[in-house]
Amino acid sequence: MFRYQTIPVTAFAQNCSIVWCDETRDAAVIDPGGDLDRLVDAAKQLGVALKAIWLTHAHIDHAGGTAELAGRLNLPIIGPHPGDQFWIDGLPQQSRMFGFPPAGHFTPTRWLADGDTVQIGRCTLNVRHCPGHTPGHVVFHSPEAQRVFVGDVLFAGSIGRTDFPQGNHAQLIASIRDRLWPMGDDTVFIPGHGPESTLGEERRFNPYVKAA
Ligand SMILES: [Zn+2]
Ligand SMILES: [Zn+2]
Repeated sequence: MFRYQTIPVTAFAQNCSIVWCDETRDAAVIDPGGDLDRLVDAAKQLGVALKAIWLTHAHIDHAGGTAELAGRLNLPIIGPHPGDQFWIDGLPQQSRMFGFPPAGHFTPTRWLADGDTVQIGRCTLNVRHCPGHTPGHVVFHSPEAQRVFVGDVLFAGSIGRTDFPQGNHAQLIASIRDRLWPMGDDTVFIPGHGPESTLGEERRFNPYVKAA
């Protein structure tokens, strides 16, 4: 069975999630933006073994700790979609701009595309490409658990910013409408910042997308 625990990291309170299969206790960490000692300790407390890093997108608060954590624990880096290459290349500059510890450069072990799947233990999650906040943004969906990890695509009561280079508001709305809503109203989403909500709640009440 699929399980997860969310741990806010960095000054941006980014929701890093440790996800795991409770049969094998193999775990992946989604968006290790920083505070790596806390993440490693949390995995130890949970009694799970970190096996992979999954990235929704390459903004500093989500991907800043990737190179260091991958190097420390010898983990493969899965994602995001190749559209975020320029954000990966810009990580050193992003860390200077936002006062983060220097972020190392990395090359994903595996890029992701829409329709891919990722595996942890005996759990499989579906990958959907949801561009708009960044061009290479992906989300990780567990139909079994009715959970989706959406990074900065959708928030409780809000949506991701689109005023960054290669951000695109219309594309973000289309991603939410065409790729998130079909997952079902009861699906709980874990956003990159702030509290969880359900897709149905946002589809009905979120002022940025309820007309989508
Ligand atoms: Zn972002
Ligand atoms: Zn973010």
